[in-house]
Amino acid sequence: MSIINNSKTDPNKILPMTYLWARQHYKDGVANNWVPEEIPMQDDIEQWKNTTALTDEERRLIYWNLGFFSTAESLTANNIVLAVYNHVTNPECRQYLLRQAFEEAIHTDTFIYCCDSLGLDPEQIYTMYQSIPSIRGKDDFVVELTKSVFDPTFNTVGDGNIQSFVHDLVGYYVIMEGIFFYAGFAMMLALKRQRKMVGIGEQFEYIMRDESIHLNFGCDLINTIVAENPQVWTPAFQEEVTVLIKKAVELEKAYAKDACPDGILGINSQQFCDYVEHIADRRLERIGLKKVYDTENPFPWMSQATDLSKEKNFFETRVTEYQTGGLDWD
Ligand code: MN
Ligand code: FE
Repeated sequence: MSIINNSKTDPNKILPMTYLWARQHYKDGVANNWVPEEIPMQDDIEQWKNTTALTDEERRLIYWNLGFFSTAESLTANNIVLAVYNHVTNPECRQYLLRQAFEEAIHTDTFIYCCDSLGLDPEQIYTMYQSIPSIRGKDDFVVELTKSVFDPTFNTVGDGNIQSFVHDLVGYYVIMEGIFFYAGFAMMLALKRQRKMVGIGEQFEYIMRDESIHLNFGCDLINTIVAENPQVWTPAFQEEVTVLIKKAVELEKAYAKDACPDGILGINSQQFCDYVEHIADRRLERIGLKKVYDTENPFPWMSQATDLSKEKNFFETRVTEYQTGGLDWD
């Protein structure tokens, strides 16, 4: 059995399964099922329209995060459907990829809902990925980094091509979903902790839980390809992947400083940068590489927000225990 380049794989025959982790990620996704309309936006709308409820700095970071995420979610959805799905024929992995594609559609819908509720100018929000250099820097990096899989003649046969595929999966999953989303998550959740823009904050919380599963799936996919093709995981290739992740960390720190130059109440922009280094170390370790930064987590509350064991009860609007055993992933 092998997860790629397996001529015996029948994509339509899902049982019996070989890769049970793919099934588990599917179930974890279902346990976090949500749609943005379930979250009321009335308080957010009032705060947004009230000229004194939010500082200029807070408005800036909200704009920057809506500007980045509104287009990054579609970019991710397109990558999954047009590039990754083609090359991963294993049926339980494809079942997960379909779930992930659906969740990316929910996330894209969330930013439509935010723009509509707050009355934002879509021309402004949906062009920030081109007009704001720190956002464009991240998107350009991922597009450049994941070029080979998008080539219509690309296949995964041979060690060089397997390396290219792993390289691009690192770009999609570890860098885009695992690093480039996290300064924004920390900012929006920090605002929510101060009771500011709690509706959007809650939507970001749900998105972050989905993304932590996407990231876990991506890392398991990478680790399985490497375990089945150990000859591709050379010291030189490991170094190449580590260098890419370090470049991504610099881009994410530049974004954090640009979105939030003076910090927000009680948090300075350096702490957002420390957080990016901390999570980058976790990503490196998750794919079997040595950590680089050894930076302490400045926001221990972030891992709690990712915990899937807390499912909101919409009727009582309080958090209730939904299932036992959640993900501990920050
Ligand atoms: Mn997403
Ligand atoms: Fe995702």
